[in-house]
Amino acid sequence: MSRGAKNVFVASRLPKRAGVSGWVATLPPRRPRPALSEAILADVAIIGGGFAGLSAAHRLSQLDPTLRVALFEAGIVGEGPAGANSGFIIDLPHEVSSDDFSGESEGKFRDSVLLQRSAIALASQLASENGWGEALFDPCGRYSIAMSEEGDRHLEAYSQQLSKMGEAHRLLKGKEIEAVTGSKAFTSGLFSPGTVIIQPAAYVRSAAECLKAPVRLYERTPVLSFERSGDGWLLKTPHGSVQAAKIILANNGHAESFGFFRRRLLHVFTYASMTEEFDPARLGGDRKWAATPALPMGTTVRRINTGGGDRILIRSRYSYNPGIEITDAAIRSAGGLHDRKFAHRFPALAGVGMQYRWGGAMALTHNHVPAFGEIERGVFAACGCNGLGASNSTAAGMAAAERVLGHQSELVGVYSRLAAPVLLPPQPLTTIGAKIHLAWREWRAGTE
Ligand SMILES: Cc1cc2nc3c(=O)[nH]c(=O)nc-3n(C[C@H](O)[C@H](O)[C@H](O)COP(=O)(O)OP(=O)(O)OC[C@H]3O[C@@H](n4cnc5c(N)ncnc54)[C@H](O)[C@@H]3O)c2cc1C
Repeated sequence: MSRGAKNVFVASRLPKRAGVSGWVATLPPRRPRPALSEAILADVAIIGGGFAGLSAAHRLSQLDPTLRVALFEAGIVGEGPAGANSGFIIDLPHEVSSDDFSGESEGKFRDSVLLQRSAIALASQLASENGWGEALFDPCGRYSIAMSEEGDRHLEAYSQQLSKMGEAHRLLKGKEIEAVTGSKAFTSGLFSPGTVIIQPAAYVRSAAECLKAPVRLYERTPVLSFERSGDGWLLKTPHGSVQAAKIILANNGHAESFGFFRRRLLHVFTYASMTEEFDPARLGGDRKWAATPALPMGTTVRRINTGGGDRILIRSRYSYNPGIEITDAAIRSAGGLHDRKFAHRFPALAGVGMQYRWGGAMALTHNHVPAFGEIERGVFAACGCNGLGASNSTAAGMAAAERVLGHQSELVGVYSRLAAPVLLPPQPLTTIGAKIHLAWREWRAGTE
């Protein structure tokens, strides 16, 4: 993806907030690190303080603790998509691509597992070094849940694939999943033990807090442009600048705002609502569990035990927003869907309202590969999360850090085998195609 002689890259847009997530709202306010207000020098500048940027900073610091790393977050750490998600750091591909599970898809499965488990290994190391408790980081595993015969069939097929790959898991019948969730709505489930469940805003805040000097984090500091300067790059922010030898672009879809990966990223938002606290006695089952849907476009559900009352999180609905921003009306519309999904699953909680609603941006590629690699001399991208950034972007950030330092590892090997993101059709075809595709898949997911 060389861009020839281009020397200056200017951000055409900056991230916008998409509501306040329940994860942030239920934490004490955070005092952000000061914005950059001077001219500084760095060995590596990282643009973006989500999973990718934070993990890149940690990995650089692990590999060379003397490295001067400057990490720039346009907003406040935890208030972007990384702190707004459902909190699954997933260790296994959702599904295996080909029906007959051929040799090629087995290889892809193994690569994907290596990538996802590398992310979990870094996250687990941070958790154990810094004493993060289970409310923040819980390696408790995940349920996949079905609500239809099609969902049941999907879980059975997935179970067969996991068995073939020697991956531990357990299929649960309707009554067994009811015993976990307190809901009669689910028809079957599949438990896999390797996923870590996080409070995402607390997780990214904590990952930022434990960055070690000379890594420095600047919040409310969007990078507005970068240009070649000597052997490196000069990055400009509203009130300062940094001369850096290398850059890691860890701003997901906003890589395109700097002109990279044009027509290769699909900017898709997804949405969540979180209830007010309710009396735990009103709902049977475990007081803490986390479930992804059996069908890809279905609904994610979590029960969160906050010490006092409990809450339910519902995540559902996808929308294609090429401008990387959404309206309050889109959040309200998704909220209506969440209310219906919640009522259907938890009639015992009639009258419990949603307290928080929000959305968040993701960057997908048509061929499901990351937007990764050295895209200009000394500029490395760790973008294109494909909707699973807690693991994918963490791994991409780690691999980008390793590439910056010329470090060889199995993880770098996986990334070197991945294809580049394919070109999307010109507009308006991409918009029309994406909208029809999302609507069709949402319809197919039905009640799931
Ligand atoms: C409701 C919801 C539920 C989800 N659930 C899950 C889940 O359970 N598991 C999972 O794996 N994924 C989930 N996702 C997806 C996940 O949140 C994303 O994949 C992830 O946040 C991507 O991480 P990232 O670091 O690549 O990008 P981001 O988290 O988007 O971080 C990029 C950062 O770059 C910053 N930035 C952008 N431009 C600039 C600039 N010019 N200068 C400085 N900073 C800049 C942004 O402010 C942002 O904070 C969910 C998403 C949503 C919205």
